[in-house]
Amino acid sequence: MAKTISLLGSTGSIGRQTLDICREQGIKAAALTAHSNIGLLERQAREFRPQLVAMHDLEPALELAKRLAGLDIEVAYGLDGLRRAASLRSSDTVVTAVVGMAGLWPTMAAIEAGKRIALANKETLVCAGELVMEASRQYGAEIVPVDSEHSAIFQCLQGSKDHGEIKRLILTCSGGPFFGLSREEISKKTKADALCHPNWTMGEKITIDCASLMNKGLEFIEAMRLFRVRPEQVSVVIHRQSIIHSMVEFRDGAVLAQMGTPDMRLPIRYALTYPYREKSELPTLDLLSCPPLTFAAPDLEAFPCLKMAMDCARTGGTSCAVLNGANEAAVELFRRERIAFGRIPELVARALDAIPSFSSPSLEEILEADRRARECVAEAVR
Ligand code: NDP
Ligand code: MG
Repeated sequence: MAKTISLLGSTGSIGRQTLDICREQGIKAAALTAHSNIGLLERQAREFRPQLVAMHDLEPALELAKRLAGLDIEVAYGLDGLRRAASLRSSDTVVTAVVGMAGLWPTMAAIEAGKRIALANKETLVCAGELVMEASRQYGAEIVPVDSEHSAIFQCLQGSKDHGEIKRLILTCSGGPFFGLSREEISKKTKADALCHPNWTMGEKITIDCASLMNKGLEFIEAMRLFRVRPEQVSVVIHRQSIIHSMVEFRDGAVLAQMGTPDMRLPIRYALTYPYREKSELPTLDLLSCPPLTFAAPDLEAFPCLKMAMDCARTGGTSCAVLNGANEAAVELFRRERIAFGRIPELVARALDAIPSFSSPSLEEILEADRRARECVAEAVR
């Protein structure tokens, strides 16, 4: 169970909910970091009195230092600030709630410092999963997933002694706001449409990924890496009600599911209290009043992002970094309303076509693949 955490991305959706769990469970925060939200980071720092806070850029860090003067809180910035937060001696657990590939370096720093990692930042595992998992074995840094599907699988696997018992992981998917529409209809959707998720409230990037089903594609790769299974052992099923958070089918035919009301604080709490379960105020799941649980196959025609991610999962190598880098760049353009929704899969496909993939890449080669993918997207819209 975590006693003191470093929370990377404390001002985001996962970050704020993590602090709710800290309040509830009396967990201390030794480090808090943000990109640019000075106001919220200041309030969080005043409440939690961490040893260190870090911002992305120097200017906001200087402003924050001015505001926190006299509180004995060190203020850092940039990659160095994130890395220091991730490897702080006083933290036993690092929560990686930064969005995007930017999470890679601090995750590596936390692993090298042998911390337990409560991992929300899925992009890191998608791009460099094999290297990250290998490093975590080498340094004895345990990774506990925060993503609700992976937490569900992790929970279902407690008590399973032999990895060979796993036959299949079944990721559930709400289907997002555009479920049931054709590719043509989806391609014209606006930012406001994409930000309307039926069951979860999350940061903008992941909400847009949920609308394109790229999120499920990233989770497909994340599941392979975290649980060391082959792509044929992962499947995706549409489950509109988000009551079953994912399942594991074992070789004897048993299927275990983790169920509950959709609330990210459950997987966050579990990641922080693991291997124990602590009391919460979460409303009891009332099976008699919940809607019928339904299941359907995903429509890979209408949601090409999911199909591309599943293909990259099979190809492996640098293709996953290209997929992720191109998607991050395309989603950013969509967020700024520079491109239509339908261009997201187009731009990702273009990058995957243009950049050849190769296997067993080094970290530098992964970063290079990511850079080239972003450049390819920028070039296409120039
Ligand atoms: P948000 O956008 O809400 O928050 C992101 C956090 O990271 C903020 O604190 C932000 O700071 C900070 N940040 C953004 N960019 C950078 C950067 N380049 N360098 C350092 N810090 C940065 O995202 P979410 O909380 O929704 O998601 C975080 C991660 O968790 C993602 O990888 C997502 O896929 C994953 N996840 C999220 C779920 C959810 O329910 N939200 C569910 C499952 C997984 P600032 O506020 O200053 O911009
Ligand atoms: Mg998820």
